[in-house]
Amino acid sequence: MGIIVQKFGGSSVATTEKLKIVCNHITKEFKKGNNVAVIVSAQGKTTDKLISEEKEITSSPNSREHDVLVSTGEQITISKLAIMLNDLGYKAISLTGWQVPIITDSNFGNAKIKSIKNETILNLFKEGYIVIIAGFQGITENGEITTFGRGGSDTTAVAIAASLKADKCDIYTDVDGVFTTDPRIAENVKKIDLISYDEMLELSSLGAKVLHNRCVEIGKKFDIPIVVKETGKENSTGTIVKNSKSLENMEISGIAKDDNITRITVMGLENKIGKTYNIFKLLSEHKINVDTIVQSFGESINKNLSFTIKTADLTETLRILEENKDSLTAKEILHFDNLSKVSIVGIGMTNRTGIASKMFEALYESNINMHLISTSEIKITVLVNQDEADKAVKAIHNKFF
Ligand code: ADP
Ligand code: ASP
Ligand code: MG
Repeated sequence: MGIIVQKFGGSSVATTEKLKIVCNHITKEFKKGNNVAVIVSAQGKTTDKLISEEKEITSSPNSREHDVLVSTGEQITISKLAIMLNDLGYKAISLTGWQVPIITDSNFGNAKIKSIKNETILNLFKEGYIVIIAGFQGITENGEITTFGRGGSDTTAVAIAASLKADKCDIYTDVDGVFTTDPRIAENVKKIDLISYDEMLELSSLGAKVLHNRCVEIGKKFDIPIVVKETGKENSTGTIVKNSKSLENMEISGIAKDDNITRITVMGLENKIGKTYNIFKLLSEHKINVDTIVQSFGESINKNLSFTIKTADLTETLRILEENKDSLTAKEILHFDNLSKVSIVGIGMTNRTGIASKMFEALYESNINMHLISTSEIKITVLVNQDEADKAVKAIHNKFF
């Protein structure tokens, strides 16, 4: 008898008909004699709808109330699923984040899990229940409801799997695994049967929303194999994300894209110790998430600094930088929005040459300009105009696969 964690995303639970398919997956594992914990997202586009209704009221909601609102979608799904399983004759019970409880910090909208108290779930298992848990939400030590950021139900699932020391965590979604790139962008995509945590972490962090990046981090830390597969497909093997070493790696494993990126360039910073640090200290104090950073030198002894942010943070970032322009010793602050990040990821690039030139060749042949390049051991990221990003992904995919 094992412990199996299953997670079903928004499209997998969108309708009553789809919930019936979900019940089949759950009861199949349960009937094998396993204890089953199920994590679900809000149905269909419920979370998007809640957010757009909130925007009808204000563009700057109180962050506590925002979390109270957006966490409601998952509560509908857990109860419906439990009711359906009960109706089929199974003992099933729903739990919200606070009922588990999943304890988080108080960073509303992007809360991190501090701990999970698993006694309630384990006791319910002993009593023969299938336990249905709301994804994406937790509770602070002070009793405030928090959420984990868009796509956060994956993180609930793997965190619950880690806390229960589950045998595996199956993430059911609307595609049959992790592909060489988003199947909605390129044709001829190939399913990746096995991918290492490190590569998956890069792909997710760089925009492949098939898995929330934080769930991959937890999987790696607690050595929980994560299987991504399609809800509508019988006996799918999907993609396994785990610690893996293949004898020979492909040049690259996959391509990811992230839209709504803005590049900020701070021109003419004094080339002195602390000048760069001051900028990032200031932004971090205001909880602005800064990504790809490139520092270069202008004509004089001054340095120029470019970095990327999510476009949603642009107004706030510009305000902070402009207000502090003099103390930062910045001459000019420029921004360039409507950009996307396009990245190639793969362990295989560590011991091969010519990968970057192959990527750039694909972009050159498609007449696509790059606005910034950054690399690490297992990835190369470029910034391109957002309206050319899909074309870039296709061109690069054709070149490598
Ligand atoms: P869920 O609601 O089940 O959590 P998501 O919409 O969050 O599903 O994630 C699944 C989507 O991720 C797919 O529909 C696909 O468009 C997208 N995606 C992006 N990159 C990839 C990739 N490399 N492989 C598979 N799917 C990807
Ligand atoms: N319902 C949340 C969202 O749409 C969490 C999730 O689906 O993972 O982002
Ligand atoms: Mg998701």
